[in-house]
Formats: sequence, structure tokens, C-alpha cells
Amino acid sequence: MRPVNAVITQIIRETPSIITLRTDIELDAAPGQFVMVWVRGLDEIPMALSYPGSITVQRVGEATEALSRLDVGDSVGIRGPFGNGFEVKGEGDGDGKGNKIMIIAGGVGGAPLLPLAQQARSSGLDVTTLIGARTADELLFEEHFSKCGALSIATDDGSKGHHGFITGAMDQFNLAGFDQFYICGPELMMKSVLDILQAAGLEAMAQLSLHRYFKCGIGVCGACTIDPSGLRVCRDGPVLSGDLLIKSELGKYHRDATGKKIMF
Ligand SMILES: Cc1cc2nc3c(=O)[nH]c(=O)nc-3n(C[C@H](O)[C@H](O)[C@H](O)COP(=O)(O)OP(=O)(O)OC[C@H]3O[C@@H](n4cnc5c(N)ncnc54)[C@H](O)[C@@H]3O)c2cc1C
Repeated sequence: MRPVNAVITQIIRETPSIITLRTDIELDAAPGQFVMVWVRGLDEIPMALSYPGSITVQRVGEATEALSRLDVGDSVGIRGPFGNGFEVKGEGDGDGKGNKIMIIAGGVGGAPLLPLAQQARSSGLDVTTLIGARTADELLFEEHFSKCGALSIATDDGSKGHHGFITGAMDQFNLAGFDQFYICGPELMMKSVLDILQAAGLEAMAQLSLHRYFKCGIGVCGACTIDPSGLRVCRDGPVLSGDLLIKSELGKYHRDATGKKIMF
């Protein structure tokens, strides 16, 4: 439960707004699990592990801005890994399910999904990935995902791939031909993707990783409780199933640091 000191060994500029910080620690974590990153003197925030011991950070506010200003040799505190991670079924698991998977990543949502794609690929699964961003230069991990299987791209401004939202890029696939869907990105994007899957009767085959505000990461503060189930994103998630989320507050509201409901 105590933070360990992680020294930054490499900084990778992934896109104009996203960097990866590689550190000198290696954590034994499942794809989709997260750590609490202590930016000393400022805040402690949740971050997925994009590689062992690495986080991939998009600048959105004070803490992520401070992380973006760090140099090689600087350090952060790391607690974790926490949460459940994605459930991946490999070839030969016996139930005949799970061999053909679709990964849908919006923006920095690609961070927890890259290790999943890599693990799925090495387990012999057939991986199709859809990545979306506002513009071509904000596409995250395009090359890495392309090494894991088929890749389809969507950009809001049409600068690469499908012109429009990632949901438009889903049209080119026979969704019923996939066994599992793994999704992470802005919440309204995830809700739209889930609505499409529900219309096809596939919501129970979706696993979504939620980026909600919380303070503790261990189920104590209650800031990330999801109505009406009462599940906590940090403790029971961050990966939750589509059939559970379709009947929830997903895409309607979330809570801020004071617990106040904020409408999307
Ligand atoms: C399990 C989990 C894994 C995450 N993994 C990553 C990751 O790999 N890379 C990454 O860049 N971000 C990730 N996030 C989101 C990240 O924690 C927030 O972007 C960060 O806490 C914002 O802190 P800030 O001080 O920079 O911004 P703030 O000043 O706190 O907020 C700036 C804006 O971001 C929104 N925001 C604040 N906290 C969150 C949050 N937890 N999730 C979504 N939006 C938030 C606020 O509503 C506000 O609009 C993850 C969140 C969770 C819960």
C-alpha cells in the first residue's frame, strides 16, 4: 500500500498531448490494471500501465501537466497495481469462445489496451483494433497495434482513416463475428460503442475500462461508485462488463472531487 519510488528512465513523445514515462520499476500486472501515481506535493492520480513499469499520460489538468514536465532522473511514487484488468481467453481455453476479439481505443484509452492486444496476439487470438483520435497526429500506438493484427483508424477531422467518430469505423465489420470487445476511451465514446453493441445483442461480450475520478484506488473513498449497482470503479473495476454498464449511469453523469454529480 505504500508508494515505491519510480525513477524515470525514458520519456517517449507519443503524440502532441501524450507522453509515455518509462520507469525503473517492473510491476507484475494484468492488462487493464492501474497504479496510483503520486506527483509529490501535488496529487495522486490513477494511471493504467501501458508497458510493465510505464505509464502513458495525456495532459488534461494540473497533475498530468506536472507529469509532462518531468525529466529523465526525476521520480514519482507508485502504489499498485490495483483493480481487476481485462479477462482474456486464449485459444484452447475449451469453451470455443474468445478467439476473435475487437479492441476499440479512443485517444489515451489505448494505454491499457496495448498490453491487452500484445498478450492476446501472443496467446494466438485473432485481434482487430480500432483506434480513434481528433487528428492523425493524436493517434496513439498506431504502429504497436498494427503489429498485433488488423488495424482500422478513425479521425474526427478526416486527416487519417475513416472521417468521423470511431463508431462510424465499426460499420465496416460484421460485429456478430467477434467473440469479445475491449473498449477504453472518453466515456461518451464508450457509451456510443456500447449502444451499437446492445443493438446487435452483443453488450454482454463487451469489457469496458472506465476512467473515473477517485482518490484512494482501494475502495475506501467511494468517489467512483457507479449507480445503481454500487460497484466501485477502483475496486470492482476499472474493467466492467457491458451488460452491467448498459443499465447504469455510464454516459449520463459522473462525480467530481466533492461527490457532486456532473452531467456529461
Ligand atoms: C483506472 C484509470 C486509469 C487511467 N489511466 C489513464 C492513463 O493511462 N492515461 C491518462 O492520461 N489518464 C488516465 N486516467 C485518467 C487520469 O487519472 C486523469 O486524467 C487525471 O486524474 C487527471 O488529473 P489532472 O490533475 O491532470 O486533471 P484535473 O485537473 O483533475 O482534471 C482535468 C479534467 O480531467 C477530468 N478528470 C479528472 N480526473 C479524471 C479521471 N480519473 N478520469 C477521467 N477524467 C478525469 C476532469 O473532470 C477535468 O475535466 C485513468 C483513470 C482511471 C480511473
